[in-house]
Amino acid sequence: MDVMIHNTGWIEVVCGPMFSGKSEELIRRLRRAMIARKRVQVFKPVIDQRYSDDEIVSHADARLSAIVVKDATEILSKLDWRTQVIGVDEANFMGPELVRVASQLADAGKQVIAAGLDTDYLGRPFTPIPELLCLAEAITKTLAICMRCGNPAKHTQRLVESEDLIVVGAAGMYEARCRRCFEPGAPRQEVLPFLRPPGKDAAR
Ligand code: ADP
Ligand code: ZN
Repeated sequence: MDVMIHNTGWIEVVCGPMFSGKSEELIRRLRRAMIARKRVQVFKPVIDQRYSDDEIVSHADARLSAIVVKDATEILSKLDWRTQVIGVDEANFMGPELVRVASQLADAGKQVIAAGLDTDYLGRPFTPIPELLCLAEAITKTLAICMRCGNPAKHTQRLVESEDLIVVGAAGMYEARCRRCFEPGAPRQEVLPFLRPPGKDAAR
């Protein structure tokens, strides 16, 4: 992507499960753009108030200040049109309009870098990331480490009981799991051995 012709816009997507390093990768790319003296603006949806109101923050505490928007259309109204590189974190929470907005920006010569979850807690494609992948010039799929077995993990396992698509949270509410260890649906919390009623182990 570094050899892209001057003034040509494009879309880059970084996608994968939680804890896979999407925010870290986004921050790395945006920092490099800043080093190249490009004008950069970073946006994040209002829904993600995990750690900070006006910053994107990785699980390893890398930070970059960001503009909070309620949805993708607000990116257009909060955009400084001199901006050359536009970062979008938690893109899966930006709403379906992100597809049109990102295309419009890329058509206008901007470099759009969007990071987001490609699947939800049930392992289903997380709109609008799949649509964005079709339109992107470059796609990076990041994998985490499965917390059960240590293999590469592409799933986000929800650990708390909820039927809602969006339950915002981090450590303790979600963990990365590989294909084999992923348990879609209700989290069946395992009873720890020392919590089992006496005599239960003996019967096994
Ligand atoms: P994402 O944006 O994809 O949720 P982050 O960039 O915020 O990911 O965080 C990535 C960092 O999270 C890693 O560098 C590592 O320090 C930490 N981490 C915690 N749990 C895991 C895991 N299961 N697999 C990989 N990295 C993890
Ligand atoms: Zn596993």
